Amino acid sequence: MPKLIHYRQRCIGCNACVEIAFDRWRISKKDGKAVLIGGIEKKGVFQATIRYDEVEENLRVVEACPVNVIKLDGV
Ligand code: SF4
Repeated sequence: MPKLIHYRQRCIGCNACVEIAFDRWRISKKDGKAVLIGGIEKKGVFQATIRYDEVEENLRVVEACPVNVIKLDGV
């Protein structure tokens, strides 16, 4: 299964991921950084298994993130 990985500490809250895949990403009102919806945290890194029909838009998210803090594995 495809898996998104978000190295959240280095997120700059630019909103690009939210604009592309709004059902998987949102911006936290608390700290202004992106939240990976459905993500499970381990030592500050969030991971979420996604559906295959989410892969294409999240590949664009990976490309768009200006600080390269999103990875997509298993595709
Ligand atoms: S695109 Fe990257 S830097 Fe911008 S909000 Fe999303 S995770 Fe953060």
